[in-house]
Amino acid sequence: MNRLQKILTREAKHKAELVAVRVRKFFLGQGKTPDIKDYPSVVAVCAKMEYRTYTGETATIDRYEINPMLLGELEWKLGPIGTKTIYADNSYVGYCAEPNAANKLLRRERIHSLDDIYFGKAYRPRTGVVIPPCGNCQKIFNNVVR
Ligand SMILES: [Zn+2]
Repeated sequence: MNRLQKILTREAKHKAELVAVRVRKFFLGQGKTPDIKDYPSVVAVCAKMEYRTYTGETATIDRYEINPMLLGELEWKLGPIGTKTIYADNSYVGYCAEPNAANKLLRRERIHSLDDIYFGKAYRPRTGVVIPPCGNCQKIFNNVVR
């Protein structure tokens, strides 16, 4: 891990904690206890430069909302958005926290290659546990922390 990835890891851990608090508050406010499915599976943070970071959660995403460079890489290397691949058992193409975070970055910053995007470790909000990048994300992003 380089220095930037360490910073991003710290931020991802913090963001995952905030997400967990947000989910709990929302459900407790309705007199309910959140269930596993009420939490986003994973939170990841990425950056091109360390002073502007972008956070993503595991979530479905419409292919028309995905940056063309990212969409091209996802569909060329993996397959159609929302499908399963041979590289990852529990992920759908484009739905991971990592591409969701990268897509936010790509909306604001000009980059020439996805290799310019760095990620910290990603966290599961519900448990606070580090979640390694899935096989799909490892195919798309060189700078995830394995
Ligand atoms: Zn993934």
